[in-house]
Amino acid sequence: MSTLRPGSLIAELNPRSIFERLVSLAGQHPWTAPRPGDGVSAGLLAALARGDDLPPPFQVMHFVAIPPLLNYGERGFEVDQTNRSVVVDEQIVVKWLTPPAASPHPAPELLGHLTRVGFTATAPPYAALTMRAPDGGELLLALVTGYLPGARDGWTWCVDDAAGGRTAFAAPLGGLAADLHLALATPSPATAGTRPAADGPAWLRRAEDALAEALDLTDGTDGDWLAARARTLRDGLAGLAAERATPLIRIHGDLHVGQILRWRDGYAVIDFDGNPTVAEATPYQPAARDLAQLATSLEHAGQVAIRRLDADPSAVARWTRRARAELLDAYRARLAEHGRAELLDESLLGPFEIEQECRELIYAARHLPRWRYAPMGVLRTRYPGQETS
Ligand code: ADP
Ligand code: MG
Repeated sequence: MSTLRPGSLIAELNPRSIFERLVSLAGQHPWTAPRPGDGVSAGLLAALARGDDLPPPFQVMHFVAIPPLLNYGERGFEVDQTNRSVVVDEQIVVKWLTPPAASPHPAPELLGHLTRVGFTATAPPYAALTMRAPDGGELLLALVTGYLPGARDGWTWCVDDAAGGRTAFAAPLGGLAADLHLALATPSPATAGTRPAADGPAWLRRAEDALAEALDLTDGTDGDWLAARARTLRDGLAGLAAERATPLIRIHGDLHVGQILRWRDGYAVIDFDGNPTVAEATPYQPAARDLAQLATSLEHAGQVAIRRLDADPSAVARWTRRARAELLDAYRARLAEHGRAELLDESLLGPFEIEQECRELIYAARHLPRWRYAPMGVLRTRYPGQETS
């Protein structure tokens, strides 16, 4: 039987009271997600570990069996997060979605798929908690995954490596991204395998809209600088319109170094919630979409290293070129090893990277003004000295 660490309230491990608490939290507007230390996450895990039937309106989807817990101590994470994650017993992460998301949601589907196809370079997926909403719809409340000991995300480790000029991570990261895409290209009800139809004109429209919006939302001297490069950037997107037959796969959708954990046993990719910034996008995209985002995120890590760690900009520029080349080489090599080189259409990378920088600018303008320096730094490095349009 489990021992309870002081601080987790025994009364709250009573499943009835936990689910009553959840019903009352869920009924509040806005929804107040459980917090580290309030015992709700531990109580949920206790109920799941016992195999209790959850009382209505809750339901649980299981992936792999939850390991036995030794104690029920809870803590939070000291990193930027969109949702609220609670670590229980240093073994399990309960990520409470803030706010709960409409179900079906991409994450449970993909975690189920990745488990079935044997992809293990992620936090072990245990369960998803959903509830029936008063309007009859279903809401995803929480995702339960394994805690990876010693994990740091790329906004820490990759930024440190950028400052230190280290690129040893790039090849394993490229291999990991390729393994993920090979797994996502494997047919199942969740992924539907690959799809042949590719829509260049729609991708061009989407990218041009992002550029127009970035130009519109970016003000001041950055805005002037950007406006002077609008032609160059637009020219960089033009190739998207070409006829092509690129396979579409179920992509990760938000693949950047912040979703890559470096932990005791290597690297892991997490957060299958999809792209929070492109609501209307279909999850079936060319693999190049994820790869472009991952590659540009190395450049963002470089910009963070310059800003926060006082790294030398020209040394960082050299690091970025090397890291990027090694990442892409390893990615291509892994696809080729599996006879799936066709999953990557190289000609999409350049335009998708430009679109990604526009999306970063839009995100900065709408949600996080202090982030603007990162995409601006990348663009200024890529398009130096062209002071006129
Ligand atoms: P969000 O949707 O809030 O961004 P993530 O799933 O991306 O949530 O996790 C946020 C952060 O929490 C990660 O960047 C990482 O630092 C930490 N984290 C998440 N899951 C784990 C895990 N399984 N093991 C260790 N750390 C984790
Ligand atoms: Mg995340």
